[in-house]
Amino acid sequence: MEITIKGIEQEPHKQNISHLSQLFFEDVTVNWEEQKKGDLIVQFQLETMPSVVATATLEERSTGVKKEVLFSYPEFGKHDRELGMKLEKRVINHVYLSVLKQYTGMEQSWGILTGIRPTKLMHQMLRAGMARDEIHQELKEIYLVSEEKIALLERIVTRQLAVVPDLYELDRAVSIYIGIPFCPTKCAYCTFPAYAINGKNGSVESFLAGLHYEIEETGKWLREQEIPVTTVYFGGGTPTSITAEEMDALYEKMYESFPNMSMVRELTVEAGRPDTITPEKIAVLKKWNVDRISINPQSFENDTLKAIGRHHSVEETVEKYHLARSLGLNNINMDLIIGLPGEGTKEMEHTLKATEKLMPESLTVHTLSFKRASTMTKNKEKYKVASREEIARMMEMTSHWTDKQGYEPYYLYRQKNILGNLENVGYAFPEKESIYNIMIMEECQTIIGLGCGAASKFVEPGTGKITRFANPKDPHSYNERFEHYTQEKIKKLTELFGV
Ligand code: SF4
Repeated sequence: MEITIKGIEQEPHKQNISHLSQLFFEDVTVNWEEQKKGDLIVQFQLETMPSVVATATLEERSTGVKKEVLFSYPEFGKHDRELGMKLEKRVINHVYLSVLKQYTGMEQSWGILTGIRPTKLMHQMLRAGMARDEIHQELKEIYLVSEEKIALLERIVTRQLAVVPDLYELDRAVSIYIGIPFCPTKCAYCTFPAYAINGKNGSVESFLAGLHYEIEETGKWLREQEIPVTTVYFGGGTPTSITAEEMDALYEKMYESFPNMSMVRELTVEAGRPDTITPEKIAVLKKWNVDRISINPQSFENDTLKAIGRHHSVEETVEKYHLARSLGLNNINMDLIIGLPGEGTKEMEHTLKATEKLMPESLTVHTLSFKRASTMTKNKEKYKVASREEIARMMEMTSHWTDKQGYEPYYLYRQKNILGNLENVGYAFPEKESIYNIMIMEECQTIIGLGCGAASKFVEPGTGKITRFANPKDPHSYNERFEHYTQEKIKKLTELFGV
């Protein structure tokens, strides 16, 4: 499919139009030059004074069939340039989505919301003093979000505020993410910094020495400035890929360095790959009062696990889950993925039945996304995935199942190239929600990233303005310059907190 767009000059608007086009057509090229003739020609007309009004007229070249949509922003007074651009964007997206909807007959349940954090938008509206019904109306009429998704957003935001009542007041505290970039092997869909633990990508020992340094220096700064830590999260890679002794030394360093660990609301360690879990490592997690771990089946179909290169079996997931339980870990999360290659509703049903026998405290249900750098995307033709309709049915099955089991949705995010333009949802039993997941999604406080591939997100107290800083992804580069990265972050933190 080729679409020629006329009447749009601004680069950010062009990006949105390309993105929205992809929601409707799998293989689409968008042209901006007048002389190019696409299968569809969409002409925009935009007025910005005295109010923002846009019209999109779509013509199918082969038949001459025309569709037209006009939309004007309901309330519109004086505005600055930045706000003006935002309103323009909304109106342009609104008419474009509507005209494509008319032409294709396809529904887009998220409307023009293409960002990854729709719940953040709802929080912003609440913080701006909007009433719930006003928010509802704006999401429906301007953003074109479906009733069902609005209800989901409301449910999640309400849950988040029950779990973290002071969510909007935590901007002078921080959370900490620690990235361990090793895994037993690399999965086919993975784009995380994950290097084979026995590979040649820089030694584990030197990486851990750098990480100890980062923890010590950052902890010293936090103590001196009396900045409290809300949550700590070990991710990666698989943080349980290192030995029990290395884990023990690492947590000891964390307790020695960070201020007031007894006040930290949550300490999570991902133990995603069941093939890394041993009784010795569980004993270390218990020793250091780790609150929450993840053991990730992704699917309960052995053939799927093999196809995506997980290198562990369903039986091993179940065995390690019971081991962790029997040794006293009572807050276990499991990740599932909808739409893995070769899977449809039948396989999903099987996976949900298997999960029912385990009943982890929380579940994160991802929809497969084809990320640019993954092996799966590079060999896309090799991996057969379910149709958009089947993915939507699998999503629905999962959401009914979680409701039936008493799980509540508590966080949500979306990704580019996600199958069926759906979402990833975190569910939990009441009081078993991950506070870190809420903090990272809603961007209400700074997250300091330590270790490989760890991205720091600095949220300016008071304004919420976000800047980022990334540690290198590969252990080699990290090992060479960890001191530099640590000091850069401390400099940024000092500016941010005005100390
Ligand atoms: S276990 Fe997770 S981090 Fe490791 S390779 Fe697989 S998807 Fe990537």
